[in-house]
Amino acid sequence: MLIILTIILLLVIFIFLKPNPRNTEKETALVENKIQKEDFSPQTLPSGNESRYNIHLKMDTDGEFQIETTVEIKNTSVDTWPELVFYFIPNIFTKDSSEQLGNTLDAPATLQVDDVLVEDKTSGFTLTHDTLTIPLDTPVQPGESVAVDFSYQFTLPVGGLRFTKTKDNYHLAQFYPMLATFRDHKWNKEGYGFRGETYHTGFSDFNVSYDIPERYTFVSTSEDESYPSKRTGTFLVNDVKEVFIAILKDPRVVEEQVGDVNIRVFGFEEKDDLYKEISEIASDSLQYFQEVLGPYPFTELDIVLDGLGMEYPGIVTAGSIYGKPVRDDAVKNMVVHEIAHQWFYGVINNDPYNEAWLDEGFTTFAEELFHFSQSDDEIPYEKMLERIELIKDSSLPVNLPLDQYENNSHFYGKASTMLWLLFKDRGGLEEAEKFLKTYYDLYKYKEVNTEEFIRFARSYFSLEDDSELSTWLEINN
Ligand SMILES: [Zn+2]
Repeated sequence: MLIILTIILLLVIFIFLKPNPRNTEKETALVENKIQKEDFSPQTLPSGNESRYNIHLKMDTDGEFQIETTVEIKNTSVDTWPELVFYFIPNIFTKDSSEQLGNTLDAPATLQVDDVLVEDKTSGFTLTHDTLTIPLDTPVQPGESVAVDFSYQFTLPVGGLRFTKTKDNYHLAQFYPMLATFRDHKWNKEGYGFRGETYHTGFSDFNVSYDIPERYTFVSTSEDESYPSKRTGTFLVNDVKEVFIAILKDPRVVEEQVGDVNIRVFGFEEKDDLYKEISEIASDSLQYFQEVLGPYPFTELDIVLDGLGMEYPGIVTAGSIYGKPVRDDAVKNMVVHEIAHQWFYGVINNDPYNEAWLDEGFTTFAEELFHFSQSDDEIPYEKMLERIELIKDSSLPVNLPLDQYENNSHFYGKASTMLWLLFKDRGGLEEAEKFLKTYYDLYKYKEVNTEEFIRFARSYFSLEDDSELSTWLEINN
């Protein structure tokens, strides 16, 4: 009895003396953040609407899709809306649009819109390239809501971009009408471009149900999937910019559990060793980003190794850059890049048409932080600078709209390099990690723009003037 009592006493003492690592971590974070938050409060750019999408998708054995979508929209702007404006990207890949836009496809998409209803009444609409406009009989006042139903059918193009069929796989990106953001008293909708991401949406809620033929598996933004999937199912997801669905035939699958997150790699060639390596680097980078930035928002991360390097909430694709396949090593880096987007795009929102550097530059920066954290190499600031001098029109700022650039180098590589340079005399990698963490904590589930980034940077670094920023950012305030 005495022995048992002594053991219990020792255990109690041990438990009380041992610091709880989680609490200590939290306290340190609080202290660090307090410094920032005392005199700085982050601002978010409002999206002007709150939207909830109900999507039902049915695919038949010929690859024809029938989609019913209802969007419930609340006007959270200060303006009355006489019309609604959506991106409807499937229309970009039809024969007509492809010919008008000079886009060559191996096979065009087909699209037929059967019905558009506003508050259950048939409504007129116009569809030009990817702009779907619905004039409203009853304008929507600030604070009011409106429900729109769409019923349509499509087949996927071969050789499309994101919305495409590759081999026997169907990639459904931006396959539903996506409401634009409403700001500065108008719908913020730019024309479609085949370079960069020309569509921008706010965080929305989704309820998706599906029905697919036998022998296919359904892989998507949903965090609650197993392989092979059922033929029918539903998923709910909140606070995401969009949903992506891949309908795959006979993939080779590698699964790995990393903490709470199930990583699944879907490959289509006899490259099981590569798929294992990709799963490993995905796991390492996911853990790194969770430590440095904050938790990954889902319990599943899907990596589909077929198609363009591209990020979607909870799922990424990798394998090629605009139709050109890349080397195996480059695919691994691409996967790390797309995973980093889960934080910069997935959780911190920005307008990728007008200010692509805020997701592509930060994602490239985070990707490079991961690579340098894995090695003892010094950060090669000079080499980075030399590299950006080779860019055509290298002196252009990084925060211009997509149509102001001839290639993507400014808002990827140059933006990342200029972020690195802020830490050249300020503690390098470690300080860069702290900076990203603070930025992420302040802006998660918000939308940022360059102006807000500048306000944050001035405060974070206690800048006396803008000389470290004005050489690479166009500053308007
Ligand atoms: Zn990217």
